[in-house]
Amino acid sequence: MPAPQCASCHAARAALRRPRSGQALCGACFCAAFEAEVLHTVLAGRLLPPGAVVAVGASGGKDSTVLAHVLRELAPRLGVSLRLVAVDEGIGGYRDAALAAVRRQAARWDLPLTVVAYADLFGGWTMDARAPPSTFPLMGPNRPADSSGASL
Ligand SMILES: [Zn+2]
Repeated sequence: MPAPQCASCHAARAALRRPRSGQALCGACFCAAFEAEVLHTVLAGRLLPPGAVVAVGASGGKDSTVLAHVLRELAPRLGVSLRLVAVDEGIGGYRDAALAAVRRQAARWDLPLTVVAYADLFGGWTMDARAPPSTFPLMGPNRPADSSGASL
């Protein structure tokens, strides 16, 4: 069964159905609707005053990647500037790949990036030094490589 036609542009096939509205949209129309909703939310809630410098916590995962991307798209209309901030907890085999993804995002989007490392803040203390990797079964060397480092 072919995908339905996009309910917004009526020109492309729908790529998804929005759970709340049930509306079937193509990728371009979904992105436009999502950005419009974020813009409305930020403006209605007066969340980011014009002139603000907004630090986006960037983990390299999908959530912070989407947040940084949409705020970057909206920054000119909001009158704000962005920068990325990432935390290196010192978890070997986990954070390195995600930080590499954040560095690629910062370079691609031409955004300033600050990486704050536990080792620098806490005199060499890292998560690995504090607790063995088996303490955090979802992190560390056993975590699948494809579960971190999202990109757009
Ligand atoms: Zn469309």
